[in-house]
Amino acid sequence: MTTTYSRDHWQTALDRLTPKTGVFFDGRFRDAASGATFSRPRPFDGRDGFAVARGAGADIDAAVASAKKAFDDKRWRAKDPAEKKRIMLRWADLVRENTEELALLETADVGKPISDALAVDVKSCANTLQFYAETIDKHYDEVAPTGPNDRAIVKREPLGVIGAITPWNYPLIIDAWKLGPAIAAGNSVVLKPAEQSPLGALRLAELAVEAGLPEGVFNVVPGFGAEAGKALAEHPDVAMIAFTGSTVTGKAIMAAAAQSNLKRVALELGGKSPVVVLDDGDLDAAANAIAWGIFYNSGETCHSPTRILAARKVQDELVAKVAAIAGTLKQDHPLDPATQIGALIEEKHMHKVLGLIGKGRSEGASLRMGGKRVLQDLGGFYVEPTIFADASNDMTIAREEIFGPVLTVIPFDRDDEAIAIANDTIYGLGAGVFTADMTRAHRFSEDIQAGTVWINGYDLSNISTPFGGFKQSGFGRDRSIHAIDKYMDFKTVWQRFL
Ligand code: ADP
Repeated sequence: MTTTYSRDHWQTALDRLTPKTGVFFDGRFRDAASGATFSRPRPFDGRDGFAVARGAGADIDAAVASAKKAFDDKRWRAKDPAEKKRIMLRWADLVRENTEELALLETADVGKPISDALAVDVKSCANTLQFYAETIDKHYDEVAPTGPNDRAIVKREPLGVIGAITPWNYPLIIDAWKLGPAIAAGNSVVLKPAEQSPLGALRLAELAVEAGLPEGVFNVVPGFGAEAGKALAEHPDVAMIAFTGSTVTGKAIMAAAAQSNLKRVALELGGKSPVVVLDDGDLDAAANAIAWGIFYNSGETCHSPTRILAARKVQDELVAKVAAIAGTLKQDHPLDPATQIGALIEEKHMHKVLGLIGKGRSEGASLRMGGKRVLQDLGGFYVEPTIFADASNDMTIAREEIFGPVLTVIPFDRDDEAIAIANDTIYGLGAGVFTADMTRAHRFSEDIQAGTVWINGYDLSNISTPFGGFKQSGFGRDRSIHAIDKYMDFKTVWQRFL
């Protein structure tokens, strides 16, 4: 099993890696038009990472032109559906065959444990591509009930060039959430991965061409948000932007869409997701789900359960149980296969997380665990699991997205109060409720505004369920069959019988 490789094995493999780092369009890699490159310190040891092409406006223009040509000449969308399915399934298989390399690229970029990258990120990426591949020859169009003298066919058509702009926390998974349905629907894609995590996307592009995806259907422009991302969002030949990232950037993309060609946008944004633990809830199950939910991926998960609303009489017991589980999680160098919590993405982000922990203390929440930077001798950016209790919902740590391993526990006395606190946020991504009483559970699931509400669990996920948010967590869903709809639109073809 690969997961039993030692840290030395992975470090040696990383030292030997020569990943693709160019701009990818028309089926091949090349330097950025400007010739510029950029690199950044690795999250886990602070050493310089790989130098990657710094794509900007001219590179976006070239990649969009390549994608548009591929769409206009129908080299992909007009293919036999069975052939399209075969190519996408082959792509998914190639991802699986290259699991170790892709996992290493993901860990090198993000600082997440190699064991998670192997078992979760690469696997989920392949499964997502496979799921959408399998839909290609199973979609039917409709005939409308227009009467005996007419036939109106209601067809769904792809939109054209899709701009995908993705974040750094789960690059391969989120890239696949956009690529799978967009390409299965017959579109072309230009992907702008986060500047922190371009390597997996570039390898995915190479594997796509190896699988037989025609040139120009999938293109990648690495670079910065303010340069390459902005140029993509403003581009007149892009039909839609599929975005995952911060709410602030989501708003900028929506404005760019409105001011350019009124392109569509689908936004999966931030969260401040509540989990309500009622007085009759199973505290062990709740503690387990909460600890994994908030500390997995160092808390860099948009729907992680950052606000725990605990019935006052169970708060202390719950917090003790979460802390006990957190105490067993091994935080260390992410290339060590036993590591369960790795590093934060970058130094600036670590200081933001530590600053918010400082706010928690100064605003009067009770620090029950952690609170500090750790493993400084490794040279990377690590913050230990941190728990605040006796917090209130007006504190900064209950309102702002921290995106780190920081849990905020807020006590409450009545169910209606818990619902009000749960909804007292600009976000609406995930939510949970723990109770033995299903009537109470369903009242919560009805009243909490969130894209997913888990009952007696958290972050249970599957490609078959839609994922996304209400309110300022965005709109448009990733995952499931429904995600395909946003990359297509209806066309009615009305024929009169003469
Ligand atoms: P974070 O603050 O967590 O890094 P962002 O929302 O800034 O999250 O980043 C998510 C993605 O959005 C990244 O690929 C980033 O480069 C891109 N991005 C950032 N700013 C812009 C922008 N103004 N226009 C388009 N894309 C952007």
